[in-house]
Amino acid sequence: MKPLIPASAQPPLPRGRLIVEEDPDPEAVPLDVLFVGGGPAGLAGAIRLAQLAARDRAEGGPLADLEIGVLEKSGELGEHCLSGAVVNPEAFHTLFPDLDETELPLRGRVAGDRVLLLTERGRIRLPTPPSMRNHGHHVASICEVVRWLGGQAEELGVNVFTGFPADALLVRGGQVVGVRTTPAGLDREGNPAGGYMPATDLSARVTVLAEGTRGPLSQAWLEREGVGSANPQIFALGVKELWEVAQPPDAVTHTMGWPLPRDAFGGSFIYPMGENLVSLGLVVGLDAPYVDLDVHALLQRFKQHPFVREILDGGEIVEWGAKTIPEGGYHAIPDRLSGDGLLIAGDAAGLVDVASLKGIHYAMRSGVLAADAIGRALSDRGAGMDQSDGADGVEGAVPGGRLASYDAALRESLIQDPLYRNRNQRLAFKSGFFAGGVRAGLMQVTGGTFPGGRIPSEPDAAGPRRKRLGLESAYDGEHAVAKVDAVFRSGNATRDDVPSHLVVGAVAGTEVSPVMAELYASLCPAGVYERDGDRLVVNAPNCIDCKATDVLGPRWTPREGGSGPAYKRM
Ligand SMILES: Cc1cc2nc3c(=O)[nH]c(=O)nc-3n(C[C@H](O)[C@H](O)[C@H](O)COP(=O)(O)OP(=O)(O)OC[C@H]3O[C@@H](n4cnc5c(N)ncnc54)[C@H](O)[C@@H]3O)c2cc1C
Repeated sequence: MKPLIPASAQPPLPRGRLIVEEDPDPEAVPLDVLFVGGGPAGLAGAIRLAQLAARDRAEGGPLADLEIGVLEKSGELGEHCLSGAVVNPEAFHTLFPDLDETELPLRGRVAGDRVLLLTERGRIRLPTPPSMRNHGHHVASICEVVRWLGGQAEELGVNVFTGFPADALLVRGGQVVGVRTTPAGLDREGNPAGGYMPATDLSARVTVLAEGTRGPLSQAWLEREGVGSANPQIFALGVKELWEVAQPPDAVTHTMGWPLPRDAFGGSFIYPMGENLVSLGLVVGLDAPYVDLDVHALLQRFKQHPFVREILDGGEIVEWGAKTIPEGGYHAIPDRLSGDGLLIAGDAAGLVDVASLKGIHYAMRSGVLAADAIGRALSDRGAGMDQSDGADGVEGAVPGGRLASYDAALRESLIQDPLYRNRNQRLAFKSGFFAGGVRAGLMQVTGGTFPGGRIPSEPDAAGPRRKRLGLESAYDGEHAVAKVDAVFRSGNATRDDVPSHLVVGAVAGTEVSPVMAELYASLCPAGVYERDGDRLVVNAPNCIDCKATDVLGPRWTPREGGSGPAYKRM
């Protein structure tokens, strides 16, 4: 078939919508530091900063009166968070040195690891590579982790605003001075309707973007500042289901091979969640050369494998969700994550080690390091607290130079870390499953020194799609879940007449080609995009904010607070 290049129909990032050159409104909520995103990165950062403020209140230090806020787009904390999750607890120990492991929101230590290579009906046990050994790590639900962190933050005096998405960064003369939230209660055409609530401004001397994977505000700011990275960021889509079963497996299991073809990078995870719950999911790189790449359908096919069927038989699905993962690794981290009035942390900065499928402790670590850098900047009398007032009395943004210690501290923390040692592992698989496996093995053995340097890559949307997977039989198995039922299981109750938050087509008003429509419809796990004959139909309320199509096609923008999924135990 004629190769299809997704980038050819991708609209540009709507930067003018995401960065507004305006001062915050005079009625703006005044804060010193605002974390955009109440996930592990934002909440860990807010907690650390509140701990520093509490210390200064006791000692009469300069941070005593710090006003800290966390802005979260989901209706309740954790409802937009999805992970595996096996957690490295290092950041919990940093933040809560006095707490015993049993007091942390984790579901128990990993009892053992198992790595399997699957064929359609068989399986071969492989030696567990060092990156997949989880001794000392804990199984967890990220929703539970985030709800618990939110409680800790509030106890320390942090203002947690849920149901308020940051719609745009407010910028004055190049300095970030706060954010504007999305309005709520608009009709499909964008006019105020019942329950209308206008946008609210929040001013801050430092805004920390902790908006997670494929964050549009972070993308817009990096683009505006001209900040690049050695390699472009690349992504995978993870689709996950939570099942109640009679007997969860005893070990943390990862599989490779079937049902993925050899030229697609990815694999599955099966994590026992204690009692009667098992979390299972499939993660697939979005550079796979298939027009009909459909990770949800592949997960349904995966559940037909005898090994998986045995786990699920007699069980029942209780939750479903999906999310992208930045998997470009060390070489795709932006060259600079600090600027005037701004820092970027967590997945928004690409801090995931895909070889071990770990991002939570990097997100928390980066939040802590961001807080420490802000604390230093604001404690320095010449830098932070005596900033000259803006024309309307809003205090100025902390200059980027004063926040740059964050970049240095983060890089230093990574240099001895798996995220650095595994820097070429994902990229090695660009040359195919077997060659990639051999190269990745050598990288593990040599601690990342082989092959040295950097394997270059291109953005996912630039790669040609020339093949078809043909996944029609994926729904034949007895445990299969159709996309429409899956969206219901995500808890998504977005109102039907919400205005569309998706920007479709390289040129506004032009239709995408039928084959591009097929690509979007296959890729989107939530049925937002459907191909109707030659037309693309967009069901925006179905969107669960996974951002998969944002990587290859239509752009995702923030929408009314509380829309989207309502995950409880993902
Ligand atoms: C399928 C899958 C499996 C994974 N497995 C593991 C694992 O086993 N172990 C592990 O360590 N890591 C795992 N990860 C990675 C890990 O989940 C992430 O690295 C981690 O959640 C990143 O934390 P974060 O705070 O940066 O982002 P997130 O957890 O995504 O949180 C970001 C928050 O910001 C909010 N937000 C976004 N935009 C806005 C806005 N404009 N305004 C207000 N709020 C906003 C979101 O709603 C969300 O609550 C997995 C990821 C996936 C998808």
